[in-house]
Amino acid sequence: MIYFNNVSKIYNRNSRALEDVTLTVTAGEFVSIVGHSGAGKSTLVKMILADEHPSDGTVFFESVNVHKLKNKELTKLRRRIGVVFQDFRLLSNKTAYENIAFAMEAAGKTNEEIASDVPHVLELVDLADKIYSFPNQMSGGEQQRLAIARAIINQPELIIADEPTGNLDPINTYEIIQILKKINDLGTTVILTTHNRGVIDSVGKRVITLEKGKIIRDDKEGKYVI
Ligand code: ADP
Repeated sequence: MIYFNNVSKIYNRNSRALEDVTLTVTAGEFVSIVGHSGAGKSTLVKMILADEHPSDGTVFFESVNVHKLKNKELTKLRRRIGVVFQDFRLLSNKTAYENIAFAMEAAGKTNEEIASDVPHVLELVDLADKIYSFPNQMSGGEQQRLAIARAIINQPELIIADEPTGNLDPINTYEIIQILKKINDLGTTVILTTHNRGVIDSVGKRVITLEKGKIIRDDKEGKYVI
C-alpha cells in the first residue's frame, strides 16, 4: 500500500530528518513506528500525506507517486487517509455528533447518512453516551476516541495515528491502542507513531524503530524486546 524508496529529508544543512528510508507497508498491516523525539517519525508521516516533500527518493501510495500529484488529486488521496494527532484537533464549539457530522458533510454525505452513521461510530469507540457533549466536557481519552471516530467515519483505507497517546495516562493509552487494534481487525491499515516503547507492548504487531532519521530495526511481529 505504501512504499518508501530511499527517502531522505533534509530541512536544512544541519538537520537530516530522514536518511535513506526504504519501507513497505502492506494493506491490512498494523505498523508501529517508534523512536525518540526528533527521530523523524512526524516527518515520515508527513511524507505519506505530502505535507512535506522528500529531498531525495520517492513515496508511493498504491501505484501513485504522492509527490507528483496536483492539488486536486492530492485532496482525493488525503480523503483515503484518516489522521489522528496528539492534540486531538477537535472543533471546540461543536458537540461530538457535530464534530463527526462536519467531517461527513465535507465528504459530501447526506443528512440521512450522517444521522444513521454517527451513532454507530460513537458506539464503536464507546462514546455513545457523549453524543451531545462538547470536547471540553470530555476527558482526554474520550476526546481522542472522538478524534478516532472522526478519522474513520468516511471509511479511509489507512489510519495514521501520530503520537495519539502522547497526552494520555496509561489506562487511556491502553484503551486507544485497543480501539486502533479493533479498527485494524475490521480491515483498515494502521500506522502508529510513538516515542514510548511501552505503548507498543500491548500491540503485538510489526515495530519499526527510527533513530536519527534511519530505520535501525524492523521487528516483524511481537512485543518489542531490547
Ligand atoms: P519526531 O516526530 O520523531 O519527533 P520529527 O520528524 O519531528 O521527529 O523531526 C526530525 C528532525 O527534523 C528533528 O531534528 C527536527 O528538529 C527536524 N525538523 C522537523 N521539522 C522541521 C522543520 N519544519 N524545519 C527544520 N527542521 C525540522
